[in-house]
Amino acid sequence: MARGCMTVHKVPEERPSEVRSAIMRAVPRKDSKPEMAARKALHHLGYRFRLHRADLPGTPDVVLPKHGVAIFIHGCFWHRHSGCRLVSSPRTRAEFWQAKFDRNVQRDALAERALQALGWRVLVIWECETRNSALLSELLERKLTRCLPNLDPGCSNTAERH
Ligand SMILES: [Zn+2]
Repeated sequence: MARGCMTVHKVPEERPSEVRSAIMRAVPRKDSKPEMAARKALHHLGYRFRLHRADLPGTPDVVLPKHGVAIFIHGCFWHRHSGCRLVSSPRTRAEFWQAKFDRNVQRDALAERALQALGWRVLVIWECETRNSALLSELLERKLTRCLPNLDPGCSNTAERH
């Protein structure tokens, strides 16, 4: 989750309910439910990781230093998970929100590129993928196996986002 998505204090007074509930979901930036689920799954899979590396572009939620993998656990609403049922668009102040969402998506892409330039492999896990722990473990294992060094240098999962 990108840092910037937590600058929610500028929310206008009239808050569409879906936005309000998304804000509520998004507020505990650290240790959010999707993040906890991902960390638990990684732990079960035996990976050693570090959290919220603020010294890296985009402050990846989880980093596997040994494998050079940076993982973002993105909230579907704020980061606009393409085609996801958790993604709605507020009807009031549509342009305001669209600009905000665009900034989030843009920031995500920049962070991903900057990390890759530093030699990190970037993995994105979406909030909706963290709801079933068995499926999440499977997904992580699959993505990480493909992501680990010497297996596939072009590991970025950008293509899977669309
Ligand atoms: Zn989603």
